[in-house]
Amino acid sequence: MITAAGKLRVAKAIVSNPAMIKAKPSVNWFFCQYLRKFTVIDVGGHLVIHSHLPPLNSVAYKRFISEHLLAKSAGPSHAQIGITNACPQHCEYCYNKGRAGDLMDSETILGVVRDLKRMGIFWIGLTGGEPLLNKDLVNIVETIGDDCASKLFTTGCGLTKELAADLKQAGLTYVTVSLDHWEAEKHDTVRKYKGAFRTALRAIETFLGSGGIHVSVSAVLSKEMLKLDAVEEFLRFLKGLEIHEAWLSETKPSVQAYWNKNLLVTEQERQSLIALQDRYNEQGGMTVNYLSHFEDAKHFGCTAGHKMVYVDAFGEVSPCVFIPMSFGNVRARSIREIVGDMREHFPSESECFINRNYEIVQKHFEGTSPIEKEASLKIMEEVEFGPLARFFALQYKQ
Ligand code: SF4
Repeated sequence: MITAAGKLRVAKAIVSNPAMIKAKPSVNWFFCQYLRKFTVIDVGGHLVIHSHLPPLNSVAYKRFISEHLLAKSAGPSHAQIGITNACPQHCEYCYNKGRAGDLMDSETILGVVRDLKRMGIFWIGLTGGEPLLNKDLVNIVETIGDDCASKLFTTGCGLTKELAADLKQAGLTYVTVSLDHWEAEKHDTVRKYKGAFRTALRAIETFLGSGGIHVSVSAVLSKEMLKLDAVEEFLRFLKGLEIHEAWLSETKPSVQAYWNKNLLVTEQERQSLIALQDRYNEQGGMTVNYLSHFEDAKHFGCTAGHKMVYVDAFGEVSPCVFIPMSFGNVRARSIREIVGDMREHFPSESECFINRNYEIVQKHFEGTSPIEKEASLKIMEEVEFGPLARFFALQYKQ
């Protein structure tokens, strides 16, 4: 819960972003309504709405307002970078399954970070594989800097107290530790790694102990977990860990094993979780942040390839981590050019691209991931986009 001093800082953060009032009244109104659904929490002086947006009082948030809301930058705002493909765990649903090639070296990764920031990115997620296994992780976080929010996606494997302290010192904004079930055995089974549950709990404790990093749990809900009573039990467990946020998503049809409509989240399940989040967040305390709440038609919709970009550990550029299609490799062309071309094919829409189009992707899949550019362009000829989500409809309307 935010303290009186924290409330004062929220007020100051709002006052210190007066440029916001230059946004269209309808966009401002949208934001007021959206932000009302969360309780701002103070983590080490960072005023956090949720971990998919930069802290309210950060330089990154100011860039969001000036470059995206006001200047209406045509570039992306969010990126994820795979900084290694190595991982000791073996989740069936892993979006990097089957990807291979020559790994980006540190110099290439740092160049990608700098280029993405120049393009207007204000939020970078570091993923893998297990990003803690990249020995240059601290340097990468430092390069992201304080004008861009950083979020580390980890299983916890390889974490030490010293590394957590170094990451804090380097300016890491958010960390999210994977935990898919409240029962140790079930989590270990999903991850095909004995001790995964224990490792995750230890990592959560270590990150919380480092003081000042916002700590969440990233939970990928299986089809059987999508029942409300299971999610509520899970949330009770997560609350007991005293983390700042529960970051929920469901398994996506990104890899062969999930190209099955019986495994797809239904609209009813999605809406129940969205409603659960709103109910939960009214109480304050641990924030619930369900990916599909952010990406719902009422909010920001699917930003794949439009405001979101993924660079995998081999330098292949995709519209989102969950879409196994490449539009080029950063070693062959500048990321600015690749993203510029890719964006022409992704106008953004109100529904999740991969949920809606996985059957087309499946049809063009020839056994290697990601699908090469030429075939990706063929896929795009078959894709039809629906209407924009509320935010972009308001933002782009003349
Ligand atoms: S494809 Fe789905 S998961 Fe990816 S950005 Fe779009 S809505 Fe999000």
